[in-house]
Amino acid sequence: MNDNIVWHEASVNPEQRSALKQQKPAVLWFTGLSGSGKSTIANVVELKLLTLHKHSYLLDGDNVRHGLNNDLGFSDADRVENIRRIGEVAKLFVDSGCLVLTAFISPFLSDREQVKQLLAQGQFIEVFVDTPIDVCEARDPKGLYKKARAGEIKHFTGIDSDYQAPVAPEIWLKTAEHSVERCAQQVVDYLAQQGYLEQALSEQAHSEQAHSEAQ
Ligand code: ADP
Repeated sequence: MNDNIVWHEASVNPEQRSALKQQKPAVLWFTGLSGSGKSTIANVVELKLLTLHKHSYLLDGDNVRHGLNNDLGFSDADRVENIRRIGEVAKLFVDSGCLVLTAFISPFLSDREQVKQLLAQGQFIEVFVDTPIDVCEARDPKGLYKKARAGEIKHFTGIDSDYQAPVAPEIWLKTAEHSVERCAQQVVDYLAQQGYLEQALSEQAHSEQAHSEAQ
């Protein structure tokens, strides 16, 4: 890294941004096989959060690969770099006070662990979208399983590339048993129960803010 780059201390701090939005920022990291329901459920969660006047942002596989990561392919090295960059972007959004939702297969435990390490305690919420591969394959919303079975796509997760399931996810969604609506509600209920949907300014931050407003 360039030694001349200095991190500027911002005058508005994360706690104030969080209090303004009345929420505790975090990353909801959806992981699961292709077609398991990550994007579908994440989109419904975002709508529910909007209704509750909560600020969110969804980072989705396709939108990131079309822009920021359009130089990356699907080799192991590129997959690792893809997730690393997404983790860094998610961290910036968390710093802004947002509830970030990410919907990437993210098949490797080590990659998810690396993102978790970027964030503070409680800011990484792993959401395991647990759908058996035969159900994903029957859904095949983008026709990718068909192509992978025909040998047209190599290194397809669940077929000829590994998926390492989470061991202790904060939220475990069983989409073969429960509807999209119910799975999305399970996520919002978790956020509410764990206190992510409220945030008041601490006494100290409150007096600091009052002090700066008076000047
Ligand atoms: P992913 O983002 O994991 O690749 P998608 O959300 O794009 O998966 O696709 C999942 C597909 O499964 C969608 O067509 C969705 O309508 C369907 N589906 C059926 N039941 C469920 C459920 N309970 N939860 C999530 N998706 C479901």
